[in-house]
Amino acid sequence: MWVKCRQRRASFFYSPTEPSCAVSSAVRKSSTGLLTIWQQDRMLNGLRRFVRDLKELAEYLRRLKQLGCPECEATETLNCHSKLYGNDPADRAGRCLRGQRIWCCDRGHRGGCGRTFSIVVAEVLPRHTLTASLVWRWLMELLAGHSLKAAVEKLSLFFALETFYRLRRKLSRGSDRLRTRLCRQQEPPPSTQGDPLLQTVAHLKSVFSDKPCPPAEFQLYFQHPFLE
Ligand SMILES: [Zn+2]
Repeated sequence: MWVKCRQRRASFFYSPTEPSCAVSSAVRKSSTGLLTIWQQDRMLNGLRRFVRDLKELAEYLRRLKQLGCPECEATETLNCHSKLYGNDPADRAGRCLRGQRIWCCDRGHRGGCGRTFSIVVAEVLPRHTLTASLVWRWLMELLAGHSLKAAVEKLSLFFALETFYRLRRKLSRGSDRLRTRLCRQQEPPPSTQGDPLLQTVAHLKSVFSDKPCPPAEFQLYFQHPFLE
């Protein structure tokens, strides 16, 4: 029998034969060793920041009222706000839909906090035009031993070379943060790389070995930006 569970005022359904709704090591993992989207929803107990694609975003928005606000934890207060558009990396002049802003309604007696939040597709790197798959292709070239400049030229990207120098500095600064999360899932593989950033890239590749775009999977799985 399925029963309704309310915890921290967020509501969802769970089976009484399964572990509690709280984050716990008892949460079962999928056959790949990673949590399913359903299990992640239960773990997060509320609004997600990343969804797989626009189709999943639409499905997710349909059950928005069932989710708890990540700030004030109120339920039945979340509403769709504006759509999020960004520059299309495949077309200099183009724009593409990247996600949706959500508003926690504080009008009337709704009891919300009035804040807004963004949900974006996992391919999007928040605050960057570069996409997760573009960055991953570039990182694979670095891992294969190409220089930064050669990797950019090989991929025929129209971004300025300086963009990738900045990106590399940013990734190097944040690699400890990435490694901390990755180590929760899996020990780093043996590596011959001397560069700590490339060691982290090899680790990322190993954790999401069956996925075409590990940076996007990182965002989906940890619900945390790959680039900060
Ligand atoms: Zn709120």
